[in-house]
Amino acid sequence: MDTHDTIVIGAGLAGLRGAARLAQAGRDVVVLESEDVVGGRQRTDSVDGFLLDRGFQILNPAYPAVKRWVDVTDLRLQRFPVGVRVRRESDSVELTHPMRHPTGIPATLHSGLVSPKDLAALVRWLAPALLRPRSVITGKDRTLRAEWERIGLRGPLRTQVLEPFLAGVLGEDDGTSSDAFTRLLMRMFALGSPGLPANGIGALPAQLARVAAVAGADIRLEAPVRRLRSGSTGVEVDVEGANTLRARSVIVAVGPGAVSDLLEIPAPATNGLQTWWFASDVAPTPSALLAVDGRRRGPVINTVVISNGAPSYAPRGRHLVAATCLLPKPGRADAGDPPREDEVRRTLAEIWDADCAGWELLRRDDIAEALPVQPAPLRTTSPPRVGDGLYVAGDHRDTASIQGALVSGERAAHAVLTDRRG
Ligand SMILES: Cc1cc2nc3c(=O)[nH]c(=O)nc-3n(C[C@H](O)[C@H](O)[C@H](O)COP(=O)(O)OP(=O)(O)OC[C@H]3O[C@@H](n4cnc5c(N)ncnc54)[C@H](O)[C@@H]3O)c2cc1C
Repeated sequence: MDTHDTIVIGAGLAGLRGAARLAQAGRDVVVLESEDVVGGRQRTDSVDGFLLDRGFQILNPAYPAVKRWVDVTDLRLQRFPVGVRVRRESDSVELTHPMRHPTGIPATLHSGLVSPKDLAALVRWLAPALLRPRSVITGKDRTLRAEWERIGLRGPLRTQVLEPFLAGVLGEDDGTSSDAFTRLLMRMFALGSPGLPANGIGALPAQLARVAAVAGADIRLEAPVRRLRSGSTGVEVDVEGANTLRARSVIVAVGPGAVSDLLEIPAPATNGLQTWWFASDVAPTPSALLAVDGRRRGPVINTVVISNGAPSYAPRGRHLVAATCLLPKPGRADAGDPPREDEVRRTLAEIWDADCAGWELLRRDDIAEALPVQPAPLRTTSPPRVGDGLYVAGDHRDTASIQGALVSGERAAHAVLTDRRG
């Protein structure tokens, strides 16, 4: 039986970061990935000349883990404006980041969406996250809804802007997520200009895989792990269609949907997202601002003309539009059916005030396990060690984000190295 120092199961961001760290420390590392490409939830496919990510997502270079472990210049990030376009009953208004887009300040102030009371509450809410982020992590946490009620944020800034915008970021629209987590995310939006790599979001894990491989990690694709057995000589790893492997340490970095198949830990709860990708000959706007439905009428929670911000995502002369909806939560009485195409097209026509009937549907991504739920109180550091020689990593062990996945991979690798030294 082939024996290795460490086996990492799963080549998402967490697994790749963990593998790189171990290989850089001189360990013999094998990464086993079930899919035919690395990246997990961050994957890009080429469809009819368009780049389609596995669900609309965006990379914020302000994440500390990205600054530390990702060469953002090499990704050729195409930046999007920071702000939102809000569809109201009779018109649409644009609210932009006052420091990044100062010319948008008058429009924001005259939009009627930012009352003095709401603005004061917003400042009270965000100031600690901007000035003293640690105080947000260590302070008392409650649900987002409870915190907004407590500070008196109840007007249109909340109901027509923040709630629809955050629904797409958190994967839920009932305000049950951790307030601390949400404020830390808002801090990142305030500090960074998010964007998409020229070759799609999949370029990020591809870069991490290159770093790990250069350091010596052996990354094996189409190698699904079916079972783990811990024993006195290490952990045995059964790989479908291949020989069983053995390792002294195993990091399970398979994502929230698969972790309980391999380890005796409960399946983490998740929120689901659905992305519709449309091709159009005419863009409904020249702007790359994310548009939200302030009326909250339809299944679409946000939509953006991706190719206005990231031209590499569409062939010349064509446009790519993403529309994101929430997937119903399984098991909930009010769950309802997944959004239908006619409903999505109707809401898009209203949000963009444009005829979308001729838009070509390129693909629909339903991702039930898009984001681990992030309840209050926020717990950012679940211990990686879960058994003899067994470690777990992934965004569900930290925060539901690129930042959380990278940090958790690093933390698991660090635990392996520390235990070995011990
Ligand atoms: C639609 C969508 C939008 C998002 N938007 C954002 C955003 O804007 N900003 C942000 O920061 N984050 C966003 N995220 C979250 C971010 O993508 C994830 O937090 C991150 O990619 C998780 O990485 P991971 O390594 O923890 O898990 P995963 O990416 O799930 O990786 C797990 C890997 O394990 C593999 N695997 C599973 N089972 C096995 C097995 N038995 N054997 C071998 N391999 C196995 C899988 O194939 C996969 O490659 C979004 C996610 C989605 C889906």
